[in-house]
Amino acid sequence: MVLEIKIYGEEALRVKTEEVKEINPEIITILNDMVETMQEANGVGLAAPQVGINKRMFVLDIGDGIIRKVINPRIEYSEETIECEEGCLSIPGIYKTVKRAKTVKVEYTNEKNEKIVEEVSELLSRAFQHENDHLDGILFTDKVSPVAKRLIRKKLQAMAKRIKE
Ligand SMILES: [Zn+2]
Repeated sequence: MVLEIKIYGEEALRVKTEEVKEINPEIITILNDMVETMQEANGVGLAAPQVGINKRMFVLDIGDGIIRKVINPRIEYSEETIECEEGCLSIPGIYKTVKRAKTVKVEYTNEKNEKIVEEVSELLSRAFQHENDHLDGILFTDKVSPVAKRLIRKKLQAMAKRIKE
């Protein structure tokens, strides 16, 4: 089932999410729906708060042939950083440069209840960091430069206003 994606200004995007305690059929269904929703929107990642679900999980499909279903992730960030343009399914039409760790070491549980440890770089590293931020109510627009923030402020305000109406 394709779920409705929450847009900038909606409260669901700013909540602190809760750990998944048990990988039960309900969780599996939500993860499958999130994959369907991400693919329909042509996204590379989608986090649970983006579809109004207050849980620490997200899905990723960066086009490497693996669809990752990530539950309760922990991330270690490299000191070295890199700047790259980002967008977000919850902030349509806005693309800005964000500085992030170059590589990350991720530990998470997948939908089969297996512990996965990966060291990732490039697009996958960026996608992991972007989606993990969603789990703490952080959006990429919070992390852009002050100049970029000023440039997008009006667009964001308009988006949030549309939500409240
Ligand atoms: Zn996003």
